[in-house]
Amino acid sequence: MTSNAGPLKNLVMARSPIDRASHLRMDDGALERLWAEARILILVEDRLHASDTALNFQSAKEITGTGERFFLGQNVETRESYFAWHTSEMLVPENDLRTLRQVGASLSDLEAGLAVHAVGLAHWHAAHPRCSRCGAATQSTFGGAVRICVEDESQHHPRTDPAVIVLVKDREDRLLLGHQPTWPEKRFSNFAGFVEPGESFEQCVVREVAEECGVIVGEVHYLGSQPWPFPASIMIAFEAVTEDASTAKADGEEITEIRWFSRSEMKSAVETGEILLPPRISVSRRMIEHWYGVGAREDLTKGDDW
Ligand SMILES: [Zn+2]
Repeated sequence: MTSNAGPLKNLVMARSPIDRASHLRMDDGALERLWAEARILILVEDRLHASDTALNFQSAKEITGTGERFFLGQNVETRESYFAWHTSEMLVPENDLRTLRQVGASLSDLEAGLAVHAVGLAHWHAAHPRCSRCGAATQSTFGGAVRICVEDESQHHPRTDPAVIVLVKDREDRLLLGHQPTWPEKRFSNFAGFVEPGESFEQCVVREVAEECGVIVGEVHYLGSQPWPFPASIMIAFEAVTEDASTAKADGEEITEIRWFSRSEMKSAVETGEILLPPRISVSRRMIEHWYGVGAREDLTKGDDW
């Protein structure tokens, strides 16, 4: 199942067939009953109880110690309920913990959806122990969907920070990629940045591209989106075309190097190890494959670190 309206389908982090059943979150009795029979995913901080290819689930009887429950929803076919148990206690051996980046691409659609939801909640809860109005402690409620202030009872909702990511092309259908100094050496990827207050996605696309690589883009088209809970983003992907490739220039801070690629230049740069593409779990990788077209999976895999 996919809910993406753009041409990028089945993005690794956006392929969940889970019914979040949000009407159950406010029903403490129902949550209690569902918990007793649920499949429960242990999260130690932000790491998942998982093998290299699948999540591990426990039953309520096996959960001990201090932590918080997150209600993740129900399997639409079997109506089985899923929860996460978020704890800082080492309930499982270190060897049985994986990060979402490590296993995200290998999980089934259902498990990927559960893992993305659980990790996103885990990051948000960990970062919001106090009320942003009065500074008092907050407590998790509604199955982990809300935190509530113990003093003024204000409700605090999980945050998701929108970021646009842009496939920049010229009139000859060449692709412009950049390198950030914080990335692994030789990695090249698309341009991205957070949406600012008062800004539309499209305005953000134009601004970010101009800032990072000096190019003015006109046409902007939506490609797709996927959650990126590292810690709290959603990536909204666009492609944009420039009439004037000659103004391209790295900003020297966020982006230290830029390069235009034809398809054959991209193929040979990957083959020779001259550049590394972003990991398969990322939307940027799918954007580059979408641009490359037929043969992307065969031609662009060298050096993959997933
Ligand atoms: Zn408060």
